[in-house]
Amino acid sequence: MKVLVVNAGSSSLKYQLINMNGESVLAKGNVERIGMPEPLLKHTVQDKETVEIHGDFKDHVAALKKVIETLVDEKLGVIGSMDEISAVGHRVVHGGERFSSSVIIDDEVMEAIEANIELAPLHNPANIMGIQACRNIMPNTPMVAVFDTAFHQTMPQKAFMYAVPYSVYEDLGVRRYGFHGTSHKYVSLKAAAMLGKPVESLKIITCHLGNGSSIAAVDCGKSIDTSMGFTPLEGLPMGTRSGSIDPAILSYLMDKENLTCEEVNRILNKDSGMLGLSGLSSDFRDLHNAAAEGNKRAQLALDVFNYEVKKYIAAYAAAMGGVDCIVFTAGIGENTPRVREKSCSGLEFMGIKIDDEKNQKVLGRLNTEGEISTDDSSVKVLVVPTNEELMIARETLELI
Ligand code: ADP
Repeated sequence: MKVLVVNAGSSSLKYQLINMNGESVLAKGNVERIGMPEPLLKHTVQDKETVEIHGDFKDHVAALKKVIETLVDEKLGVIGSMDEISAVGHRVVHGGERFSSSVIIDDEVMEAIEANIELAPLHNPANIMGIQACRNIMPNTPMVAVFDTAFHQTMPQKAFMYAVPYSVYEDLGVRRYGFHGTSHKYVSLKAAAMLGKPVESLKIITCHLGNGSSIAAVDCGKSIDTSMGFTPLEGLPMGTRSGSIDPAILSYLMDKENLTCEEVNRILNKDSGMLGLSGLSSDFRDLHNAAAEGNKRAQLALDVFNYEVKKYIAAYAAAMGGVDCIVFTAGIGENTPRVREKSCSGLEFMGIKIDDEKNQKVLGRLNTEGEISTDDSSVKVLVVPTNEELMIARETLELI
């Protein structure tokens, strides 16, 4: 059985065709610059070189048509016909309070996803375009929506409420939703499997550290708190996002610099975080290189990041009344031993001890995963490469 996983952005469409017998990726790719000049499809078949295909992809339907054409192409393809695709799993960013798990897409679900556009104005419209393109081209193939927010719908009210007038929650839906849910779910399940214990018996802190970063407290398999909030801006400082700041800074900035809402939003989303602090780059590789050469602001950015990660780890251990396992994942979590070391240092009092040698060796980019804590560390620290596409494919298969 083959499942197509689709992750549609406003001008992009990423896909993976996964053979669920053995969970192998048959082909994957990305259409970039949809609706813009010189759109491009990059297509990779397992163990072969990436091919670049140019075309006139004026919208998501045109892009998807080309993807399907390529998947069934005699030379570049991996399947004989479109009918071999048993189902399509779609990544959808915001499921609001309506969706606490993945669902089969029908007209009613489409309406509910549309109703959540207000909560995710940048993401949900693009996800909808991806779904519509697939429904248009493959009307008889079952489709499933997998939401970034769904895994966090188990948070208790005390964790998801902001202390603002209750009507702001009731009337406007302002509350913590949390994001990266598919990743937090995947790595917590994988961690439990690696430890050989049922996830229902574990208190796990999952650290998804990438361009966008979030941490979740996963108690007995359920998310009970997470660092991103109403939007993916809250929580840790990120590549270009500020993370949590005193909310009064917004009106102060707007007042002093005569800025509009939109301008202040842009500063907090695009000009802040590691880039804003260092004045150099949002990329951790650049920051570590610069810091090694004595760049103080690059070092400061890294210090701020590691300090915040450490505080969340301790806070979520408190929230769960303990912690059995900490998981590092995503670009930084998988590939940056120094961040793992620094964000756990000083937590020895909680029974968290990193083994330097193991920590240097386990790198997602080298396809390694595993334990980086010392044998006598009472908390297991693991590196688990995330795989959101596989999680989406599994949930899709389960539902159909
Ligand atoms: P996104 O949130 O966009 O998916 P990623 O998970 O790819 O982002 O994370 C991007 C960050 O991860 C960058 O700061 C980069 O420095 C770091 N990173 C990604 N890949 C590697 C790698 N192979 N080696 C070292 N750092 C990496």
